[in-house]
Amino acid sequence: MPDRTFPSIEQACYWMAGRAPRVPAALVGDLEVDVAIVGGGFTGLWTALSLKDLEPSLSICILERESVAYGASGRNAGIVGETLDHSHELAIAHFGLDEARSLARIGRENLDGLERFLADRRIPAGFQRRGQLTVALSDAHVEALEASARAAERVGAPGWRLLSGPEVRDEIASPLYRGALLAPRHALVDPVALAEGLRGEAERLGVIVRERTPVDAFEFPRDRVLLRSGERSVRARRAVLATNAWTHRLLPRLATRFLPLYDYILVSRPLTGPEWRSIGWKTGRGVVDARAFFNYYRPTPDGRILWGTSEAAYYPGNRVDPGCDHSAAPYAALEESFRRHFPQLSHLEFPFAWGGPIASTTRLTPFFGTHRGRLGYGLGYTGHGVGSTRVAGRILAHLALEKESPLLELSMVRKKPFPYPPEPLRRLAVAAVTRSLRRVDAGRRPSLLLRVLDRFGIGFSS
Ligand SMILES: Cc1cc2nc3c(=O)[nH]c(=O)nc-3n(C[C@H](O)[C@H](O)[C@H](O)COP(=O)(O)OP(=O)(O)OC[C@H]3O[C@@H](n4cnc5c(N)ncnc54)[C@H](O)[C@@H]3O)c2cc1C
Repeated sequence: MPDRTFPSIEQACYWMAGRAPRVPAALVGDLEVDVAIVGGGFTGLWTALSLKDLEPSLSICILERESVAYGASGRNAGIVGETLDHSHELAIAHFGLDEARSLARIGRENLDGLERFLADRRIPAGFQRRGQLTVALSDAHVEALEASARAAERVGAPGWRLLSGPEVRDEIASPLYRGALLAPRHALVDPVALAEGLRGEAERLGVIVRERTPVDAFEFPRDRVLLRSGERSVRARRAVLATNAWTHRLLPRLATRFLPLYDYILVSRPLTGPEWRSIGWKTGRGVVDARAFFNYYRPTPDGRILWGTSEAAYYPGNRVDPGCDHSAAPYAALEESFRRHFPQLSHLEFPFAWGGPIASTTRLTPFFGTHRGRLGYGLGYTGHGVGSTRVAGRILAHLALEKESPLLELSMVRKKPFPYPPEPLRRLAVAAVTRSLRRVDAGRRPSLLLRVLDRFGIGFSS
């Protein structure tokens, strides 16, 4: 892709570009509420809805710097998993078999609950339970998928099954595919439509949503939290940071617990009938490949292909700003990888291209906590939050109200992930691990560095 001036994220992101225009309501003057939530993505919206579920009379406001779904929630691929971890194998490795089984059950119930929630409220979020394929590009991947299928069986995930090379190529015509693992219950959504639906539901229940309202600081006067946005302020009994990859800006000490990374995506023009026939893919399932830095893709409702990469970029100094929203190198790499998977579509153009910030943790799951007892936080979905933010919302609501829940007993909630090093070591560590993972993807043995990290259960992914 040639160098060019990139459009704003609102125009560049396929999901955002299709959103109906509206005038955002900013905070005017001061406000007093029971719970103030910072961040209008899935985490913030689900936290508000869970709080209303627990105590309908609570007064709640959401303060969003830009507009609802401005962050990762509006920029993702909309592939919704039934797992809360990156994989059942990692859940077993990190938390033990018993807890991995609980996480798998919570993940399944969560996806069922999301489907019911959208159906009951008639929210048109494009939810489609089509299943997801993880495709093998090498014999080593086939073996790895066999291990994943065994792990799914151990944690009691129903219906996961292996597909042979001919079976998967029959479903999706790529010469690279040698086998696949089908997770039959995974789903697809339109992420911006989902976020708008959640916002509509929250507002219907009385939640005040204020956009163009960046929170710059907070204080803890007596038994309250005071959130400041320029001259304006919100006083609350409790506050929740739902700011994911931006959280270190407000709570710098959390920077050790996560890496802000940028994932990049392309969306093609609509395919013609013959182009669709050349690729097959009648199931329209979401697909990921089995590499460490994998491609993920899905069809859009209007017949395009969304093509993304998990080879996320780290911008030194934990940068998260509009300057990272576009990058020519990952766009070129995305086009190149698409052509390798689908040479029959090598002419396909991609008019949409954008990036978005995720928060990655060393154990590849989110973490939770409270600051001074009154400010809760939950972040670090490591590129997998479309479904799990709904569970996070319940966790954060229980933490804010100090209510008991079996969710608060999960190790994911009780324990923090192993920290990442500070700068300047951080950028060097990320570069070294990235190089090692690229070598593994090229078919080489894991380096000593990766073997040591693996031994300590430390991952790097998006
Ligand atoms: C390119 C990409 C592809 C992805 N694909 C998938 C996928 O297919 N499936 C999947 O499960 N997950 C995917 N993810 C991850 C998923 O989107 C996230 O895990 C999830 O959206 C996180 O939601 P959130 O609400 O915690 O964070 P965000 O959506 O990032 O929301 C944080 C919000 O906080 C606001 N904010 C920040 N600072 C302040 C402040 N000081 N004051 C007020 N507001 C503030 C931001 O503007 C933002 O709106 C992807 C992510 C990206 C970037």
